[in-house]
Amino acid sequence: LFSGGQDSTTCLAWALQRYAKVETIGFDYGQRHAVELSVRPTILQHLRQLSPEWDARLGQDHVLDLSWLGQLSNTALTSEVEIRMQENGLPNTFVPGRNLLFMTVASTLAYRRGLDVLVGGMCETDFSGYPDCRDDTMKSLQVTLNLGMASRFSIETPLMWIDKSQTWQLAQDLGGAPLVDLIREHSHTCYLGQRDILHPWGYGCGHCPACALRERGYQQFIATQSMPGQSC
Ligand code: ZN
Repeated sequence: LFSGGQDSTTCLAWALQRYAKVETIGFDYGQRHAVELSVRPTILQHLRQLSPEWDARLGQDHVLDLSWLGQLSNTALTSEVEIRMQENGLPNTFVPGRNLLFMTVASTLAYRRGLDVLVGGMCETDFSGYPDCRDDTMKSLQVTLNLGMASRFSIETPLMWIDKSQTWQLAQDLGGAPLVDLIREHSHTCYLGQRDILHPWGYGCGHCPACALRERGYQQFIATQSMPGQSC
C-alpha cells in the first residue's frame, strides 16, 4: 500500500529489499489535497534510480478510484473541516475502517496478480486513535482475508512497533542517506497539502499533527546520528 507518504515510502523500500517482485497500489478517495497521490510517480522513479536491484523488482503501479468513500464520511481528510480531536478520542481525520477497506481491496488485486504478501505502513506506536491501524486489527484481517479467499496472504507491517524517529532510521538502514533524502524531499505527509517550504524534515505546513509528528521524529533521528560513540 503506497500512498506517497513517509511511512508507505519506507515500507516500499523495505519490501523492495526483501521480495523479488513488488507492485504498488494507491487510492484516490477524494482526499482534500491530491498532493500525496501526485508525488507517487516521482518517488517511484527516484527509487528505481537508487538501486538497479530495486528497479528490477519494482513492478506495476495501480491507482484505484475510491472516490465514493467521500460519500460515506465527512471528515477533515476529505472535506474542508478543521482537524481536531472528537469527543470519542479519535481525531476527526478518521475515515471509519479506511485501512480495512484499503487492505481488502489490495488483497483482491494481489490475489489476481499472484502476489501473497501485503505490506502496509500501519503503526501502533504513534497511535493517533486509528483502531484500524492496530496490530490485532491487521492480524484479524489477515485471518479473515485468508478464510474469505481460500488464500495464504500474509500482512506485513514493518512500522507497527517503531516510532517516527525509528522510521527515519529504518530508511537510513535500507538505503542510506540517499533514501533518507528522497523521503525528505519527495514524500508527503502534511494534512493541509502544503509544499511551499522545504524544512529539514521535508515539505509541509509545519503545524498540523502530521507535520508535527514528522518533524519531531526527524529531529530525534538526527540527534541519534550525531551522538558521539554511537555505532550501528
Ligand atoms: Zn502540515
